[in-house]
Formats: sequence, structure tokens, C-alpha cells
Amino acid sequence: AKDSGGSQYHVYHQEMFQRVAHRVMLEGEVRQALAREQFSLSLQPQLCAKTKKLYGFEALLRWKHPERGMISPEDFIPILENSQHMIELGYWIMRRCFELAVEIKRYGLNDIRIAINLSAGQFVDANLPAFLQSLLQEFSLTAQSFELELTEQTLVKDIDHTIAMMEALKDIGFSFAIDDFGTGYSSLAYLKKLPVDVIKIDKSFIFGMLENHSDYQIIKSTIAMVKNLGLTVIAEGVETKAQLMSLSENDCDLIQGYYYSKPVPEIELFTFMDKHISA
Ligand code: C2E
Ligand code: CA
Ligand code: CA
Ligand code: CA
Repeated sequence: AKDSGGSQYHVYHQEMFQRVAHRVMLEGEVRQALAREQFSLSLQPQLCAKTKKLYGFEALLRWKHPERGMISPEDFIPILENSQHMIELGYWIMRRCFELAVEIKRYGLNDIRIAINLSAGQFVDANLPAFLQSLLQEFSLTAQSFELELTEQTLVKDIDHTIAMMEALKDIGFSFAIDDFGTGYSSLAYLKKLPVDVIKIDKSFIFGMLENHSDYQIIKSTIAMVKNLGLTVIAEGVETKAQLMSLSENDCDLIQGYYYSKPVPEIELFTFMDKHISA
């Protein structure tokens, strides 16, 4: 028994070492990747479920690594979380979103919102309101051009700090969406406490909504509740026409998903708009 305990400890120790090593390596690579312009954004359209009018785009980070190819944000953002590197990467993402907002206006679309994902580590950064305020001035934009997406994970971190941060950003004019709604443990409590504008129903509910009775009922009642609270509801992960029609019948405001479009790489954004959107 003593022996197996020892080797378990050894395995644990080794795993921990590898995790730390991996993290340190990644952090170094992120610095380089920023300098070498390996990051980019893809933009996924969000549309009015009934009219199909374009409402905005969600900005999604992409990392093209020279040796490892495309790395999914799900594989490195959680590792960078709580590091200065995530804050710096976040600054880069926000600045790029502002540049894109200017380009979209120049293209002729004036009321388009860009949704920016903010992770928990970014939301504890006391400089965030000042940073965003300075970008608004630099690019002569108003906060109405943006929506900030927070996950329930971010919200639970430190609820008092979260409320204070949200209020500071609301004062500047930013709106908030709760991402992955329904996957956390106390979603309903947040709705009561937080100055939220938009709810995004998690794609895990949408995928099986027409086959699974409880997913369907959850979606239906979430839409009704969100709208009764006077908020906007988005369904993400809409992949089929049947899902879109059912969501529209149930008065879902906005949809986002592969059915209409996959995230569009930023360099293809304006060819995409030429083809699909009449300005
Ligand atoms: P998320 O914020 O929930 O983003 C939605 C994810 O669903 C995206 O994955 C998107 O490409 C994918 N998706 C959209 N429509 C469909 C669909 O119809 N079917 C399926 N199967 N998937 C769909 P992606 O781009 O790989 O991003 C994964 C996660 O990484 C995001 O989940 C978000 O948590 C994180 N992330 C991405 N970009 C950023 C960023 O700029 N900042 C932060 N903090 N996190 C980010
Ligand atoms: Ca999101
Ligand atoms: Ca989501
Ligand atoms: Ca997610």
C-alpha cells in the first residue's frame, strides 16, 4: 500500500509538473504569437430570427500556430486564464474588435454590434473600464457598437466585484450578454442581481431541441421568461432550418449558428457581406 501511494504521488507530481511546464510554454508562445501576428478573429453573424436582418457579429479568437496549425481557443484560453498574458491578449482582442467596428461602419452598416467574449481573468482587471473608455475615444465609437459576453463562470468568481465592474461598464454604455445560459448552477439568481441585457441559450440545448422533449420545453420557457423580463434572447448553435423555424415560432429574438453561417475569418468579412448582406 505504501508503494502504490508513493507512485501515485509520483504520477500526480509529474502531471502537475507537465501542466505547469505546458502553461509556461504557452505563455511564452502567446507573447511571440502576438508579436508575430498569429492571432486573428473570426466573426459569426447574429440575425433576427423572424426577418433574418443582421444584428451583429460575435468575435471569436483564432490562433494559427506555425507548427501546430489552428489551435482552438478552448485549448489555450482556459490555460492562460488568470495570467497577465490573458489580459494582454484580451487587450489585443478588444482593440481588433474596435478596428473591425470602424471598418464595418465604413462599409455602410451603422447599427451593427460586435459581441466580445470576456473571460473571468479579464473581468477582474481593474483597468478594464479605463481601457475600453480610451478605445472609444481613440476610434470615435460609442459603446452601443459592442456587447460584452460573460459566462456564468465569470459571474460566480466574486459576485460583488462582478456587479461593480458591470455597473462601471454600463455607465459608459456597454451592454451585457450572459453566454452559455443554462449550463451553470444558479442562472436564475444572476438574472435578478445583475444588469444584464441579453441571454444566450447554450448550444447544448439547441442541438437536440426537436428530438428531446425536455430540451424543447427548457428553450420554450427560457425564451418566454427572458422576454417577460424585458431582455433579449439569442439561440446559439442553430444548425438546421427546422431549429430556426421552431425558435422563430417561439419568439426567440436572435439566432446564431452554422445554419446561417460559420464564423467568418476577418479577412473574408467584406466578401461575405458583399454576398449575403445588402447594406
Ligand atoms: P462560445 O463563446 O460559447 O462561442 C461559441 C462557440 O460555438 C464558437 O466556438 C463557435 O464557433 C461555435 N459555434 C457557433 N455556431 C455553432 C453551431 O451551429 N454548431 C456548433 N457545433 N458550434 C457552433 P469557438 O470559436 O471554437 O470558441 C470556443 C470558445 O472559446 C468560445 O465559446 C469561448 O468560450 C472561447 N473564446 C473564443 N474566442 C474568445 C475570445 O476572444 N475571448 C475569450 N475570453 N474567449 C473566447
Ligand atoms: Ca460567446
Ligand atoms: Ca456560448
Ligand atoms: Ca461555450
